[in-house]
Amino acid sequence: MGDPKKSLASVDALSTAWSDFRAGNRAVCPACTDSLALAVDSAGNAYRFVCASCGHASAWFESSQEGVRVRDFAQQIFAGETLADDEDFDDER
Ligand SMILES: [Zn+2]
Repeated sequence: MGDPKKSLASVDALSTAWSDFRAGNRAVCPACTDSLALAVDSAGNAYRFVCASCGHASAWFESSQEGVRVRDFAQQIFAGETLADDEDFDDER
């Protein structure tokens, strides 16, 4: 706990996991070294890694030309409000 190298809270760790994943390699959970699963939001434009073994999860992030861009909380709340009327939008499961 509290070690950013063992957490997906750091953009570096997230970028590493994401580039591994996109290269077809195993994305490794920094907390327990098991494999990470990728979750995609209902709109399909944001991702997060979730570890099935220890439950460690990253923040929602977007992939852009420049690399990984983590969504900040204000953006997440804003996106939720924007999509609130959309029946296809389902909240985090
Ligand atoms: Zn884990």
